[in-house]
Amino acid sequence: MDFAFDARTEELRTRLLAFMDGYVYPAQEVAERQRAELDSPWDTPRIVEELKAEARRQGLWNLFLPDAEHGAGLTNLQYAPLAEITGRSPQLAPTALNCAAPDTGNMEVLAQFGSEQQRKQWLEPLLAGEIRSAFAMTEPEVASSDATNIETRIERSADGAEYVISGRKWYISGAMNPDCKIFIVMGKTDPDNPDVRRQQSMVLVPRDTPGLEVRRAMRVYGYEDHWHGGHAEVVFDQVRVPVTNLIGEEGGGFAIAQARLGPGRIHHCMRLIGMAERAIELMCRRAVSRTAFGKPLAQQGAVQQWIADARVAVEQLRLLVLKTAWLMDTVGNKGAHTEIQSIKIATPRTVVDIIDRAVQLHGAGGVSQDFPLAELWAGARTLMLADGPDEVHQRSLARRELKKYL
Ligand SMILES: Cc1cc2nc3c(=O)[nH]c(=O)nc-3n(C[C@H](O)[C@H](O)[C@H](O)COP(=O)(O)OP(=O)(O)OC[C@H]3O[C@@H](n4cnc5c(N)ncnc54)[C@H](O)[C@@H]3O)c2cc1C
Repeated sequence: MDFAFDARTEELRTRLLAFMDGYVYPAQEVAERQRAELDSPWDTPRIVEELKAEARRQGLWNLFLPDAEHGAGLTNLQYAPLAEITGRSPQLAPTALNCAAPDTGNMEVLAQFGSEQQRKQWLEPLLAGEIRSAFAMTEPEVASSDATNIETRIERSADGAEYVISGRKWYISGAMNPDCKIFIVMGKTDPDNPDVRRQQSMVLVPRDTPGLEVRRAMRVYGYEDHWHGGHAEVVFDQVRVPVTNLIGEEGGGFAIAQARLGPGRIHHCMRLIGMAERAIELMCRRAVSRTAFGKPLAQQGAVQQWIADARVAVEQLRLLVLKTAWLMDTVGNKGAHTEIQSIKIATPRTVVDIIDRAVQLHGAGGVSQDFPLAELWAGARTLMLADGPDEVHQRSLARRELKKYL
């Protein structure tokens, strides 16, 4: 078993690390300052566009997309260590490289299932980083971790030329950003179909369509998550789009959602490992620079234990994530189902724990706005819910495991 990255990955890692040091980290303070001066907090600070232009110029662009025609053509195993590096600055780096959720998943859906016209109209500007997008599935009124519960209706108009969409969604990431021009909306076209997984479809809804209202920003532990374009409540009131806005076939929404979530989940886990590495680095720097009760924090046994445990946990997680990436490349996302669920269960909770220790070591500073830890913690914690709550993955994984003995 060879644990070394291949030559292309090593070369891209070297370039990406230099890009992070030379451009991303120095931009963080500038971006904060520029945001404070914006007319709307949801607009994109100028420096983000400059970072995007530089990343593109350096060929550090669309690295997530395995399809060589539209993206960088990297395998999951090649992309994993790069996504990890971007996780060290989750606010700026993924967007700078055009590798931020939910656009990545939406681009994958369009590349894989979109018609030629849909790809031209929406995929091309997304790949060019000219617009952003959102994915609207979750609804406040129903337990949306079970997609068969979704109540939004997508009905054909009387003349059959249009779909009429009605429903209410929330926690729709990116939707507060005015650059978010297109929504992929999941709803039911055939609610009476006895096959509950054939009731749903996905349609493209441009932001400016009458009846679409971005109603309010939903907070995350009090954070507005400006960097991700916020998370919005969105109402669709008799929204009409041409039937050509259907993605794939009627009744195919559930299957597309499943296909979309595989790569999305591993990307989150890769970035989470980068967040954990950042927390460990901050923890160590703090431990060697503060003294309490006569000795540096670094010499306290409890602190050493936190640091050692964090290192062990990150190494374990990284191996599992890389194995999952390798499996996705070799046997496909379906074949890697158990491993994708395993990393989606293991990574957020472990990283939350590591960041929490780093918060503790920083004392009051840990929960303050002067260190990134509190925001990193909140972001990591949401991933125990988003893209499927832990318990849903545990249920499905356990069922597959038990099946072997039935
Ligand atoms: C920051 C953030 C960003 C998000 N972005 C998006 C987005 O862009 N688009 C989008 O559509 N959605 C998004 N979501 C929503 C997210 O995908 C949902 O919150 C998630 O799928 C859970 O659905 P729910 O909130 O309706 O919880 P519910 O389905 O009501 O579940 C609540 C809880 O019930 C428990 N539970 C559920 N099923 C089981 C089971 N089978 N066994 C045991 N326990 C169970 C779990 O503990 C679960 O957390 C986002 C959420 C957050 C927090």
